[in-house]
Amino acid sequence: MDLHELTILKALELIQTRAISSTELTKAVIDRIDKVENKVNAYITLVPEEALISAAMADQEIKQGNFLPLGGIPLAIKDLICTAGLKTTCGSKILADFIPPYDAGLITKLKQAGAVIIGKLNMDEFAMGSTNEHSAFKNTHNPWDLSRIPGGSSGGSAAAVAADMCLGAFGSDTGGSIRQPASHCGVVGMKPTYGRISRFGLVAFASSLDQIGPLAKSVGDCALLLKTASGYDPRDSTSVNKSVPDYSDLKANGLKNLKIGIPKEFLAVKGIDADVLRVINSTIETFKALGAEIIDISLPHTKYSVAVYYVIAPAEASSNLARYDGVKYGFRSDEAENLDQMYSKTRSKGFGTEVQRRIILGTYALSSGYYDAYYKKASQVRTLIIKDYKQAFNLCDLILTPVTPTPAFKIGEKIEDPLQLYLSDIFTISANLAGIPGICVPAGFSDKGLPIGMQLLGSHFQEDLLLNAAYNFEQATDFHRKKPDL
Ligand code: GLN
Repeated sequence: MDLHELTILKALELIQTRAISSTELTKAVIDRIDKVENKVNAYITLVPEEALISAAMADQEIKQGNFLPLGGIPLAIKDLICTAGLKTTCGSKILADFIPPYDAGLITKLKQAGAVIIGKLNMDEFAMGSTNEHSAFKNTHNPWDLSRIPGGSSGGSAAAVAADMCLGAFGSDTGGSIRQPASHCGVVGMKPTYGRISRFGLVAFASSLDQIGPLAKSVGDCALLLKTASGYDPRDSTSVNKSVPDYSDLKANGLKNLKIGIPKEFLAVKGIDADVLRVINSTIETFKALGAEIIDISLPHTKYSVAVYYVIAPAEASSNLARYDGVKYGFRSDEAENLDQMYSKTRSKGFGTEVQRRIILGTYALSSGYYDAYYKKASQVRTLIIKDYKQAFNLCDLILTPVTPTPAFKIGEKIEDPLQLYLSDIFTISANLAGIPGICVPAGFSDKGLPIGMQLLGSHFQEDLLLNAAYNFEQATDFHRKKPDL
């Protein structure tokens, strides 16, 4: 096996026994990026020299017998998580030259854990999108079929992990942006409970929904990344002060006593692909064979999730994005003759069409006279969705669903039809509305050989249960062992 193909857990073992060094591993990943980045386009910024310096420092620590949790492991970060001294663009022209003066809470933790940061990953502008086609800079391509989308908005993250251009990555998930690209690229992706990982230094899209999470080559790697990233941060008022369990303590000894619910509304969704249904049905059989009990459940209000999300998320975004006004930081149009023009030209030129669409939608939904009809109503339905999940978790421990209605589609296929794109998050959005954790694990392939994931959802702070079920599933199947041919 080539070094760039290693999982984090295997690489740590080899580094700690001094069979390989972090410098060798980091060089192997840089060589891999040199070889395939022109096909995949996963990165916005690469910092190979800085990465090699961190790798040399990690090697020094290891020589002294100091084994840090991620000591010497090359990771990459979605480009909306602030990195001190390293460009953080959010996939937007308006922040094209923005260099944050501080590290996000996540980055501080990763550095303390000895990780080597190799670059910043492509994404839909301000995390608005499901395909990476809304990046202001480039289209990322799906490593399994370069003519297809990798999913989004953390498409660069999922593609980089799938193509072995980093050992693991972090993205953000507001309505599915970790799980959906993980499914399309055949990797593991997890959205933790709202409040589990600090969002200090995560550029805000929709603050009541955003959550940082890991993308990885295996469930074991995902657990380790989550464990390292989790924990209370007083700088994030939504961070929850709750101890972090040892997520890495995974046991493949079956799933007796586990009850998994299948929401009948999810499998009745119109337009769901036959390959996706086949994969979910075979996943159900695998869980039965592992000893889990499968029951039917109902989440009657989740059918409104997409509608609720596309009121709440744009409303919050319209407020969060007000700060990009050409004054405080970021791009400023120099064509303006007065202050009003400066604002409007800066924002018209700096933001892409999807971001502008959301700002207009959100401003409308919050405006006086419409607030009650849209934002308030959406918030009320959100409460009903939360109640649905609460009731469901009285009947079962975990919920199994598809991640996306179809496998990855062609680049350009749906770009003219925002509503079609919005529907690709139909299975992931309700978890963000309810704040619950969800994980996507590779579960099969379409007839055309495209990866298809399955999603497990758990109640708040049940990440350990989710990871253990996902691990048992992974160990009983071999979908995660297949690699794209690049
Ligand atoms: N695709 C969804 C959107 O466009 C979700 C994005 C996300 O999770 N960041 O808003």
